[in-house]
Amino acid sequence: MSKSNHHSSLPHWGFFLRILSWDKSKDKTDSQKLISSTIHEWYDAKHRSVSKEEIKLINSIKVKCCPICGGTDIVSNGYYRNGTRRYLCRYCDTSFNPLTNTIFEDKKIPLSEWIEYLLHLFEFINIFDNYFHTC
Ligand SMILES: [Zn+2]
Repeated sequence: MSKSNHHSSLPHWGFFLRILSWDKSKDKTDSQKLISSTIHEWYDAKHRSVSKEEIKLINSIKVKCCPICGGTDIVSNGYYRNGTRRYLCRYCDTSFNPLTNTIFEDKKIPLSEWIEYLLHLFEFINIFDNYFHTC
């Protein structure tokens, strides 16, 4: 089943769902149930497919130059399998998407979670900043 996963071309250490010795047991202890459900939650979070909203957001990013060579002679060149727009740099002949060479490239975590994380981080910086500058 996991062979048809859309990440099959990108193997990494978290690719396979960990099999636990008690997985098939009908009488799991509470701690076994907790561990199983935590592992499944973790797996689902890491393997969530890209949502339509996320694709829409990624495709709305205005790409002005090639992330590899900086060239501005780029053309729209169809779409990747996951729905993100594909561009081609006519100077260095590289295909790329709007996230290529950004911190969001090839992340297994959905963009929405990154955005949420960054919002929390900046909120924290604000709180931190205020804490030291209140005199
Ligand atoms: Zn280029």
